Amino acid sequence: MRLLDEQILSDLERLRHQALYRRMRTIESEHGARIDYQGRSMLMLASNNYLGLASHPALKRAAIAAAERFGTGTGASRLIAGNLKVLDDLEARIAQFKGVEAALVFGSGYLANLGTIPALAGAQDVILSDELNHASLIDGCRLARAQVMVYRHCDCDHLKAMLKRASGARRRLIVTDSVFSMDGDVAPLPDIVELARRHDAAVMIDEAHAVGVLGPNGAGLVSAHGLEREIDIQMGTLSKALGSYGAYVAGSRTLIDFLINRARSFVFTTGLPPASAAAASAAIDLVEAEPERIKRLWDNGCYLRQRLVELGFKLGASATPILPVMVGDAQPALDLADALLRRNIFVLAIRPPTVPDGTARLRVTPTAEHTRADLEQATAAFAAAGRETNLIR
Ligand SMILES: *Cc1c(COP(=O)(O)O)cnc(C)c1O
Repeated sequence: MRLLDEQILSDLERLRHQALYRRMRTIESEHGARIDYQGRSMLMLASNNYLGLASHPALKRAAIAAAERFGTGTGASRLIAGNLKVLDDLEARIAQFKGVEAALVFGSGYLANLGTIPALAGAQDVILSDELNHASLIDGCRLARAQVMVYRHCDCDHLKAMLKRASGARRRLIVTDSVFSMDGDVAPLPDIVELARRHDAAVMIDEAHAVGVLGPNGAGLVSAHGLEREIDIQMGTLSKALGSYGAYVAGSRTLIDFLINRARSFVFTTGLPPASAAAASAAIDLVEAEPERIKRLWDNGCYLRQRLVELGFKLGASATPILPVMVGDAQPALDLADALLRRNIFVLAIRPPTVPDGTARLRVTPTAEHTRADLEQATAAFAAAGRETNLIR
């Protein structure tokens, strides 16, 4: 065996031993309320396809039409030769949807965060970051040359103390998820904005799990609070509730012009494919035109939460349709997920380092497309799987 393989194999074995080994499971159908997996039809309760748009005919039609008109690739970075009209159109649509002056599309949410944070926070600056922020925000902070101060989850007193300590910096940048991806709870945005105002800090919010889920017309948490003019940087993805791929940063025209010049994950990467961009535009149209989808998502979230609590499962303090079924150690979380897979329910265990040690869980996400019968089927499977694994009685 080659030396490198031998070295990394021992790392893999350690992961296996700790029940932290990861592998992919291959789905054989399109994404929807049900999917095909290992030749079986399964209920999908693990995806971020909250509104069921990833397989919507209107998105497919838009993607096909864009591919026919603009081709499959953009050929270069948008600053070189790859700026297609379909991307400009999408950015105008996003800016309107979010109620701000301008938007810039990135290849993914990970890239958006990786490029935006280092562009805005340099060596003389301080970033204040919630301890449960998404990995892409954490990595963006790591790439920035700024000092990073991590505040306790949603703890504004702690944030305030840190802002005071950061008073000598050139710039203070507060960075937070709006809906926390693995817990489903929501950042105290009005309090954060108030602190930011008092301490001359800028605010960046990651709306990945809020777009299409929260706020009037699904425009997100910022919009729900009417804080469009107070939040400097609104980032969000096109890949979750919007059912496509890619991400955006939205804000002032000045911010967007700055990122076009300085965000390295925009400058040095190829533009988003036309089909993805057109599908995302179509998704925003649908979200605005059919708000009942959002209502169905919330109804399903409330219903399944109640059923799981009745069974005796311990649910985290979520305020959204993201339902964290708390288990604790990694191995029992894997066992519960396996017991559910055997009963045709597709949910997966979320383990460290995605979540803190000792807080392994199943992250259960009903969508707008699930029926009551689907949720009853899920409840029955959870009851049996929970008893089999001794998590409930
Ligand atoms: C999924 C996610 C991202 C990354 O978005 P991708 O488009 O999947 O790269 C960023 N932030 C949060 C909070 C997320 O949940």
